[in-house]
Amino acid sequence: MFPADRRENWHAGQGRWAHVPASDWNDWHWQLRNRITSLEQLESLVRLSKEERAGCLFAPGKLSLAVTPHFFNLIDPEDPDCPVRRQVIPRIEESDVAPGESPDPVGEESTMPVPGIVHRYPDRVLFLVTDRCAAYCRYCTRSRLVSNAQAYDFHPELEKGLAYIAAHPEIRDVLISGGDPLLLSDAKLDQLLGRLRAIPHVEFIRIGSRIPVFLPQRVTEGLCDALKRHGPVWLSIHVNHPKEVTAELAAACERLAFAGVPLGNQSVLLRGVNDDEEVMRALLHRLLMIRVRPYYLYACDLIEGSSHLRVPVERGIEIIRSLRGHTTGYAVPQFVIDAPGGGGKVPVNPAYVQAIQDGIVELRNFEGRSFTYPSGVRMPEPRPGPVA
Ligand SMILES: *Cc1c(COP(=O)(O)O)cnc(C)c1O
Repeated sequence: MFPADRRENWHAGQGRWAHVPASDWNDWHWQLRNRITSLEQLESLVRLSKEERAGCLFAPGKLSLAVTPHFFNLIDPEDPDCPVRRQVIPRIEESDVAPGESPDPVGEESTMPVPGIVHRYPDRVLFLVTDRCAAYCRYCTRSRLVSNAQAYDFHPELEKGLAYIAAHPEIRDVLISGGDPLLLSDAKLDQLLGRLRAIPHVEFIRIGSRIPVFLPQRVTEGLCDALKRHGPVWLSIHVNHPKEVTAELAAACERLAFAGVPLGNQSVLLRGVNDDEEVMRALLHRLLMIRVRPYYLYACDLIEGSSHLRVPVERGIEIIRSLRGHTTGYAVPQFVIDAPGGGGKVPVNPAYVQAIQDGIVELRNFEGRSFTYPSGVRMPEPRPGPVA
């Protein structure tokens, strides 16, 4: 069993902030005010390698450094390869640009009819409503605009976005993202959801957010009320490693689920974080235990400076193969590649269908055994009926 799987490890204590009163610790504004955002703060808390130190000096021009105390507490200070650490502490490898990497790896800029709206699929849009997050993932696919380190100067134009959606009756699904939409105030979010709900052709509203993971204190009664009022609103969170499934995240998901919010998870396959069958299985099992259905596992986008975190696609396929059939179907996410240049999400699966020929589907099951299934529908011979 993966050691972090034991329930007694679920509760991340206040660790380096043990002196902070609970009333502060549990206040999301306190967590935001006390984020670790500078090299000096980081060095006062943990011993940095020279690669990390250099990474922190490089970060301000690429993607800001920011980590909430809650998330920082999950870092094992004794382990230089801690999987939580790799996600949020910059490394100098971020300055290396590998072939094929780009500042806009999935081609969002070319499918933005108005600032903040990405309209790539026929019936749904991505609506970017802020460029801020509670903490910054070093492999962020939107590093170009998020945190404004690269002087992109992104100003979400909510009115223009709403007008675009209202004017396009084919849009039945709106995915609110950013940045992190749950950093908006309750009032602003309430208003935004209300405006979307008032558009008759918008059937399905969902939010992509890592707030429950980085800042579970933000999932307040007020926030849940707003989500409930305009529900159903679906929420995709972003958890990569079982250590992130804390008691605080479990409680936040419970509050959300009780407010009627269906919960999914999107992970990114990352080297040294979750590119391991046992780690991935522990993560997925824990997600089910907190009412979260694993949705997508992404191959890491070709964002500039991410090669040290990327994993060969074959490994992802092997990991999926180790799961499908071997554990609960609900636990198995769809592995996808968001195709470079704007092709959208393409599912990548182990080859369970070996061939379809001469009316026969040749299958391979989870154990590697072969089976066949007739592809065409052959009607039974007519019954010898009563003589007419
Ligand atoms: C991921 C994404 C969506 C949503 O895709 P689903 O497969 O429906 O989850 C919509 N628009 C854009 C631009 C996206 O990147």
